[in-house]
Amino acid sequence: MNRRIPVAGPWITQREIDYVTDAVTHSWYGQANSYNQRFEKAFADYLEVPHAISLPSCTSGIHLALAAMDIGPGDEVIVPEITWIATSAPIRYVGATPVFADVDPTTWCLSPASLESLITPRTRAVIVVDLYGNVADYDAILAITAKHGLRVIEDAAEAMGATHRKRRAGSFGDAAVFSFHGSKTLTTAEGGMLVLHDRKLLDRVNFLRDHGRKAGDVSFENSEVAFKYKMTSLQAALGLAQLERIEELIARKRQAFQWYADRLGDLPGIRLNNPGPEVEAVYWMVSPIWDEGLGFTATELQDALAAHGIDTRPFFKPLSSLPAYRHLPGMEDCPRRNPASYRLRNLGINLPSSLMLTEDDADFVCAKVREFFTANA
Ligand SMILES: *Cc1c(COP(=O)(O)O)cnc(C)c1O
Repeated sequence: MNRRIPVAGPWITQREIDYVTDAVTHSWYGQANSYNQRFEKAFADYLEVPHAISLPSCTSGIHLALAAMDIGPGDEVIVPEITWIATSAPIRYVGATPVFADVDPTTWCLSPASLESLITPRTRAVIVVDLYGNVADYDAILAITAKHGLRVIEDAAEAMGATHRKRRAGSFGDAAVFSFHGSKTLTTAEGGMLVLHDRKLLDRVNFLRDHGRKAGDVSFENSEVAFKYKMTSLQAALGLAQLERIEELIARKRQAFQWYADRLGDLPGIRLNNPGPEVEAVYWMVSPIWDEGLGFTATELQDALAAHGIDTRPFFKPLSSLPAYRHLPGMEDCPRRNPASYRLRNLGINLPSSLMLTEDDADFVCAKVREFFTANA
């Protein structure tokens, strides 16, 4: 076996190399922030939102959003079970309590009915996830959050470029976050963006992310203990170059999904990413799930593919089932309360979805998946 087919990874061209080289050469002194400003402006324009703040990660964006919304001890934040732990971890950073909701079995995004059933007088906010490049059902979700006066944080880390009724993922929440980790559709190696609509929230975020001081402060008179969350200019230069190529990055993600759909779509008992109505997905990870009746687990399929040099990931497991959370009060109710999330456990994987995937790679991966299904289903 001479090479492995990676599960995720970026598409870097001379443009990215030129911008980063320019940043490391010139982005100092009076120009220190120029790439951050250009990247933020271009990003906000792309999403058609007023404010975008470049950050060291998506996780830091969720932390800042919660802190700026003054969410803390005694408050509950509802979050779907099926997501990367980065979505929920910042709820603990601010001392609030995560409440895990079920996902829709088709779109794998937050179930509006589950959300509504979990609202209590202590609920302050909801973090909605646009999972694997689908977009959640914001028509239903925003109607519920408006009725109950809840803040909405949209985790669009996996949905760069996806749309719902032509509106882009990341434009729905009071706050929205993106990740530019090396595995994501647009990368800055590590990095993130926080998108905001409200000027007051923006001012508070800028205060909190710079050790509790006002913009332009040079007096070192910090008025609160806060955080230090900034993206470097080198990362911003990389991000700007990637953003200028966003249509081509998205087209490749969609192409990869189509290759898989054409080759696996007819396998009985298997389903690929299924965006909701009015959604144009970007398929961050092409993710087959299969019927329980087929009788094999994700690990078995992953091991079989790994033997052929094919790297995969398991579908996210319910957060309430993880060692990080399962000892907490109330977690024992989650398997019964969130059946769709628990059904997905062990019955789905992410196939190789890097931006460098070729049609030959997809042919090879699909042939091996079909072999496995034929032998084991
Ligand atoms: C990648 C990812 C994150 C975390 O992003 P970081 O930049 O690593 O902090 C958060 N939420 C989701 C849904 C993700 O996929």
